[in-house]
Amino acid sequence: MSWERCTLCLSTKVLNKQGTAYMEYMKGRLPVCYDCCAITDRRDMILDGKATMYLNWNGDGTKSVSNWPCSLKIRCFSQSTSRNNWNCERTDVWFTGPDGHVWWGFHVGGSHQLINVRRIKEIV
Ligand SMILES: [Zn+2]
Repeated sequence: MSWERCTLCLSTKVLNKQGTAYMEYMKGRLPVCYDCCAITDRRDMILDGKATMYLNWNGDGTKSVSNWPCSLKIRCFSQSTSRNNWNCERTDVWFTGPDGHVWWGFHVGGSHQLINVRRIKEIV
């Protein structure tokens, strides 16, 4: 059994079978637990006004955006799907960000989940 200590909250957690109980913190290559990932990703969204997230297809037809370990997950309140100039499916989503503003992003293509999202001026 393998244990690791989170760099931020110093809690010790056992790694699961896949070894994915922790992710590497991108900037310092330090282990950070999923709970702390949610906190830092949320803070970075508020500070930066933009983020690279993952688009999730919910079972009920709605969509949500999340961080990599899915510890921060936000349901989109609106979505639209269209075809772009290259005949790829484009999905636009809108959701309420952690700062209370409306956030928007769009995803193109079906082979990946990455979506760049940004804050827009409108407040919910
Ligand atoms: Zn932690």
